[in-house]
Amino acid sequence: MKKLTSLVLATGNTHKADEIRVLFRDVNTRLVSLGELGLDVDVVEDGDTYVENALIKARAAASAAGMPAIADDSGIEVDALDGVPGIRSARFAGEDATDLENNELLLKMLEQIPEQERGGRFVCAAVYVPASTQPGEEIVCIGEWPGRIGFAPRGESGFGYDPLFIIPEEGATAAELGPEYKREHSHRSRAFTALADHLKALS
Ligand code: IMP
Repeated sequence: MKKLTSLVLATGNTHKADEIRVLFRDVNTRLVSLGELGLDVDVVEDGDTYVENALIKARAAASAAGMPAIADDSGIEVDALDGVPGIRSARFAGEDATDLENNELLLKMLEQIPEQERGGRFVCAAVYVPASTQPGEEIVCIGEWPGRIGFAPRGESGFGYDPLFIIPEEGATAAELGPEYKREHSHRSRAFTALADHLKALS
């Protein structure tokens, strides 16, 4: 099989990077981080959609590294809040908000909302951008993971909104179910598995 050249992974989030590396284990490529290349790429994620933001990150990384890049953008959408926080999930409680602050704000905004109206989903856009020196097309894949927002945080693993995100058929949060369950079911798993399949077909 022809080896796809190395890919740069355009994320500084080590939790995400760990999840993506496992999802890409069958793709015949070397995945390197921007840090491993000694690069610090600062981008303004000012897109209006997950896809636009993921492309902003991947294009900047591909251009800085001179190699193809993959990136994602993700967030949580709550039905009772008309899809908020969505693309602002990381900065929901402020520019430098912590996961704890974001979770507390979400719980506060849902204080009066009963269990049956607390539905929502995680969404992830995973993208591939070829190196500017190589021919090729950008690839975009979307993954969704439906669930419900709990009334209090539960579980220790994961990051972000995992302790609040209940998978109804399991009766447990993503933070209680842990990384192996997320690798099989999450929005990121769905988006990057589809992206990996596209890239396997190229190699
Ligand atoms: P991004 O790094 O710009 O994609 O921001 C994504 C934000 O959405 C994260 O900071 C989390 O707040 C939230 N998020 C995305 N994926 C997950 C997940 O798998 N678990 C928990 N929170 C997530």
